[in-house]
Amino acid sequence: MTEQRHTAEILMTGFVTHDVKRFIVERPTGYEFSPGQATEMSLQEAPDDARPFTFTSLPDDRVLEFTIKGYFDHDGMTGKLHRRKPGDKVLIGDCWGTITYRGPGVFIAGGAGVTPFIAILRRLWADDKAAGNRLLFSNRTAADVILEKEFRAMLGEDFISTLTREQAHGHLHGRIDKNFLERHIDDFSQHFYICGPKPFVADITAALEDLGASPESLVVED
Ligand SMILES: Cc1cc2nc3c(=O)[nH]c(=O)nc-3n(C[C@H](O)[C@H](O)[C@H](O)COP(=O)(O)OP(=O)(O)OC[C@H]3O[C@@H](n4cnc5c(N)ncnc54)[C@H](O)[C@@H]3O)c2cc1C
Repeated sequence: MTEQRHTAEILMTGFVTHDVKRFIVERPTGYEFSPGQATEMSLQEAPDDARPFTFTSLPDDRVLEFTIKGYFDHDGMTGKLHRRKPGDKVLIGDCWGTITYRGPGVFIAGGAGVTPFIAILRRLWADDKAAGNRLLFSNRTAADVILEKEFRAMLGEDFISTLTREQAHGHLHGRIDKNFLERHIDDFSQHFYICGPKPFVADITAALEDLGASPESLVVED
């Protein structure tokens, strides 16, 4: 099956953190996705240079939202995208992705890896089903924490933020490793949703399995 590509206008942009921007993008007619899924996005002048990004809006919203970290240390796609303005257009492909909600559990994210969990947790919150889920979120500094206020509002004490490069009020300090998981999780027979840089996902998967989680209970991007 050939992939459909849709041209969509950027309607609005805004900073979420110092290097993460929210893009509100026109929703192509009939475009469907599930919370946790992603699509390939490219710029009009380089249509074949696509990068994967996750929908952070809900399937019943009238527009699409993406929450995208910009890398400015080289001439990559996200740096160019961050300079785009409302009225500019992007290309998006079909939706895909294996991260879907299977039931209450622990979400474990590193940095911009939290994006699939934004849509999933917003869905649960809208349906009054967020209780019983916990988010462990690792970042370098407090300034890097995406949507901190929203996560606190949705999850209360079940939003646990940890910082690896600084100490800050309201955040724990240190990496998410086996010890950290043992301290913050009582039940290793529930679902675990893991997303972040590849080494982060590999380390956490191994630690959870050591602590008794079954491989079937782990939801990661393939
Ligand atoms: C399924 C999926 C969903 C995703 N969803 C999101 C999302 O919702 N939001 C989001 O922010 N990200 C998301 N990502 C990650 C996102 O796709 C990447 O951040 C993006 O592709 C980076 O594109 P780029 O061209 O700017 O950087 P790339 O060129 O791809 O580089 C990425 C990394 O390598 C480094 N790098 C590469 N080349 C150089 C160089 N020459 N010099 C110095 N450093 C270099 C960059 O600093 C950066 O750390 C997702 C990834 C996947 C797989």
